[in-house]
Amino acid sequence: MSSSSLRLHRSRLLHCLRDPGESQDHTAYQYYSDGALVVGDGKIIAAGNASDLLEQWSAKAEIVDHDGKLIIPGLIDCHVHYPQVDAIASYGNQLLDWLERYTFPEESKFSDVEKCRATAEFFVDELLRNGTTSALVFASVHPQSVNSIFETAQRHSMRLAAGKVLMDRNCPPSLQDTAESAYRDSRELLERWHGQDRLHYAITPRFAPTCSDQQLSLAGQLATEFPDALVHTHLAENVSEVAWVAELFPAARSYLDVYKRFELLRERSVFAHCIHLDDIDRQNLASAGGAVAFCPTSNLFLGSGLFDLRKYRENNIRIGLGTDVGGGTSFSLFRTMSEAYKVLQMQQQSMPGVRGLYLATLGAAESLYIDQYVGNFLPGKEADFVVLDHRATPLLKRRLEVCKGIEEELFVQMMLSDDRSVYATYVLGECAYARETLVG
Ligand SMILES: [Zn+2]
Repeated sequence: MSSSSLRLHRSRLLHCLRDPGESQDHTAYQYYSDGALVVGDGKIIAAGNASDLLEQWSAKAEIVDHDGKLIIPGLIDCHVHYPQVDAIASYGNQLLDWLERYTFPEESKFSDVEKCRATAEFFVDELLRNGTTSALVFASVHPQSVNSIFETAQRHSMRLAAGKVLMDRNCPPSLQDTAESAYRDSRELLERWHGQDRLHYAITPRFAPTCSDQQLSLAGQLATEFPDALVHTHLAENVSEVAWVAELFPAARSYLDVYKRFELLRERSVFAHCIHLDDIDRQNLASAGGAVAFCPTSNLFLGSGLFDLRKYRENNIRIGLGTDVGGGTSFSLFRTMSEAYKVLQMQQQSMPGVRGLYLATLGAAESLYIDQYVGNFLPGKEADFVVLDHRATPLLKRRLEVCKGIEEELFVQMMLSDDRSVYATYVLGECAYARETLVG
């Protein structure tokens, strides 16, 4: 390792070691009020007290002093649609109408490769501006939309998963593939991109209603042929959608059972929403190793329902937060944590700030099966991290000044922060976004 690549970031430092649960579990996280993160060749070498690490590393490493700001692991978005950037904040309607009126017309524009490239560029910039360093991303039905998001993520050295959307029925003809073309195109894209640098392929049936039996069957075949690829789809988001699935697949016991029958329920399967599932579904999800993307801003915006986090965690199901832009209303995982807290409050459940952080970092990494690479600051992991500005807004500065500890501070951040709090975002130890450079 060249000494020039060695850096010691001095700052306050916080990361999770496991799920802290609904109560404050002080052993589930580590906080250093004067901390240091030692980074070399894009990886974490050490995280701990500045006094210890300075003694060991100050002669060898470049010191970067962040002036009392707070460093946390890079945030991870478990469910987001990049072709829906321009559909965000479209008024009214629940899921099925919303898809018809806003999403499908928007996604049809991605037949144009220039549109794909320009939107992918904006989307990745927006992730980084919000402190999001990894994401599981829906592209559109068009293979070129997948190439564009992977090319852009690769250029920014990001750990990112994406896939071509599969949809061969119940959608406009301009957006339909076929069962065979979907298999062939997905396989080609998977073989091209999966495992390239930090990229992962996700086999991406849009949702059961837009996929024929034959398409789901071939998607399941692909998932079996490539067990280390992700599967990414929607599940039980909206009551009308659930009823429609029951009509379309009368032999299935439940919506989840449709995916199970087609071999799409397995480890590395990530299901967005999961609002309307029952206990048997949850047991099946747990035993298969499937994960859930909890997307509170979307669930509230589209009136879909309240996700019952407690029941899923009781089954030890992997859960991470998703923004679900454009059904979701913010790229910020802080905004998402804040809405998650309120969704849980409506169900007499709680979410301390540290648990919010867990669901947006380590919990999300576990859900995407990338926790061996990212999610916290254990030595050897990749150095993706965010520097938070505790003076980002007058209100945040004032409120944080009267906080009595890191747990209270984190809760306040969770309620009041957004992209303005992200002072800098680092990917593989290099600064990928800095707010200051934009000022003026
Ligand atoms: Zn979605």
